[in-house]
Amino acid sequence: MRVTPQHYRVAFGFTSAARTIQLPLLDFLTGQKRRCFAERNQSSVPPRMVVGRVEKGRSMRNSFDYIIVGAGSAGCTLAYRLSENPDVNVLILEAGGWDYNPWIHIPLGWPRLLLNRMNDWMYFSEPEPGVGGRPIECARGKVVGGSSSINAMAYVRGHRGDYDRWAAKGLDEWSYAHVLPYFRRQESWEHGVSEFRGGDGPLSTRFSRYADPLSEMFIAAGRSAGYDYTPDYNGKQQEGFGQWQATIRNGRRCSAAVAYLRPALKRNNLTLIINALTTRLVTQGNRVTGVEYIRAGVKRSAAAENEVILCGGVINSPHLLNLSGIGDPDDLRSLDIDVKVPLRGVGKNLQDHLSAAVTYLRKEPGPLHKNMRLDRIASELGNAYFFGKGIATDLPSGGMAFLKSNPDEKLPDVQLIPISAPMTAAPYLAPFRKSYDDGFAIRAAVLRPESRGYVRLKTADPTQAPMIVQNFLATDKDRRAMRAAVRIARDVGRQKPLESLIAKELAPTANAYSDADIDAHVDATGISVHHPLGTCKMGHASDPTAVVTPDLHVIGIERLRVVDASVMPDLIGGNINAPVIMIAEKAADMIQGRAPLAPARV
Ligand SMILES: Cc1cc2nc3c(=O)[nH]c(=O)nc-3n(C[C@H](O)[C@H](O)[C@H](O)COP(=O)(O)OP(=O)(O)OC[C@H]3O[C@@H](n4cnc5c(N)ncnc54)[C@H](O)[C@@H]3O)c2cc1C
Repeated sequence: MRVTPQHYRVAFGFTSAARTIQLPLLDFLTGQKRRCFAERNQSSVPPRMVVGRVEKGRSMRNSFDYIIVGAGSAGCTLAYRLSENPDVNVLILEAGGWDYNPWIHIPLGWPRLLLNRMNDWMYFSEPEPGVGGRPIECARGKVVGGSSSINAMAYVRGHRGDYDRWAAKGLDEWSYAHVLPYFRRQESWEHGVSEFRGGDGPLSTRFSRYADPLSEMFIAAGRSAGYDYTPDYNGKQQEGFGQWQATIRNGRRCSAAVAYLRPALKRNNLTLIINALTTRLVTQGNRVTGVEYIRAGVKRSAAAENEVILCGGVINSPHLLNLSGIGDPDDLRSLDIDVKVPLRGVGKNLQDHLSAAVTYLRKEPGPLHKNMRLDRIASELGNAYFFGKGIATDLPSGGMAFLKSNPDEKLPDVQLIPISAPMTAAPYLAPFRKSYDDGFAIRAAVLRPESRGYVRLKTADPTQAPMIVQNFLATDKDRRAMRAAVRIARDVGRQKPLESLIAKELAPTANAYSDADIDAHVDATGISVHHPLGTCKMGHASDPTAVVTPDLHVIGIERLRVVDASVMPDLIGGNINAPVIMIAEKAADMIQGRAPLAPARV
């Protein structure tokens, strides 16, 4: 069976019922005050074109100490930390617009964002031979908050061994002991501060409150299958079955824009310009001195006295480097781009988590099913949006597991994500629309694949998307790991506690046991878990595949750094929003020449 946007649609399907909720009231609802450059300056520019802060009584300046390209997870974090110093001026340029879309803020709205590709760059990979020759959707947020405004809100840091592996590769300052203080600094964990968790950071984190017996039964099934339980997979022990943690505050998404950017915009030394596509770095000799960008069809430029920091994400940061003549000289010359810095690693080393789901029909409908009746779900969406209460303030998923596919693995190499909504879920209302058969899925992801893809320019036109090749399941080891992951999910589904909720397995179908059967299922339905990284890999200048140094300077050129998912050298065992924010938190200290936080002793 092929998973298409239509499948997502029916899996989570919300129709026009809640489409009527619009966002002129957003500022009121979220208690945010957003002032608009255009309004404040009585300009004729429409308010949504340029939003931001400028120094009072002055026209908008064109020279800044720091220019940040991209207001995503990393960019918002950096904007907040750099502008804490009132003596520096910071400009942040964002290609997308404001996050007015209500589906961004209602946690249950996430599937709708994804299936309709809202606030998204609309990227797809090239046809992927490893997954049946299908182009794979590669969603990336194009809006303030970037991908943190359209992600599934899971708060996961990865395994401590991931960062110790980075350190063992020579990135000493990125060991677990070195990064843990920055994970703690980023968050406000609902259960308060501890040696692992933060208590007063900008990003609100909490356990899922989605109430469904399935969540408990999933964890019980894991234990019955012989796996551990972990009370906090972001704490002492990642491995095992535990409760889903989410970046949700007061019943609404806590994106990087909500957590970091909006509070920072209260400061007069931070300027945000939205709908501004950065097209090129401006250089003088071997130094980056600013950027060019297009806004409202007009080419503009801004100068950076100290540094330009690229936070455009895993696809766009290498894209912008390439457009500026930094990259593989052969690729650049083939498009008649002058080579400024030959750096073969730019755009290479692309890695992502691939997943496949085992799906089930429930014996009895779950709690979301009851609430999907059209009148109820409309009221629940309103309840979540206006008051931050009710079933729509969470994703229908309460559990999570990090497991070893075999005891020889050093770290958990499989992630299980239960999703309590069926493929046929949609609002219903008799006699107009029949209700659906309720079900759920266990999605299994391979955490540290060997396969590597790339991002490469297709044309020198900055408004055109680059070529994305993921190379999913290009190695036998990855293929075997994927089979093992699906088998683990099925094994969990067959345990007594879950058995009591399951009427039957729908896919891959109960009798499909062979490697060929599972491969066919993955070929037809495998999708990205949306954690691509690695295209501007961090490493030492002696590493020919490295793009940035351990302090995130682009190799071979001055006053330019990359700070986003692209610098991660390899995949960590989990979702990557929290690690990207951690990287930006740490980068902020590096950029300002501050002593790093003292390494943790845990
Ligand atoms: C559908 C989906 C679900 C996900 N689910 C989860 C999850 O549940 N948990 C989790 O931890 N992670 C999840 N992730 C991954 C995580 O959100 C991202 O890895 C992370 O947000 C990436 O941060 P970033 O700063 O590298 O890039 P982004 O957050 O993508 O930010 C890049 C920003 O730069 C802007 N930009 C790009 N190019 C330019 C340019 N030329 N000029 C100006 N602006 C530009 C973009 O518009 C964007 O706002 C998910 C991602 C997606 C897409």
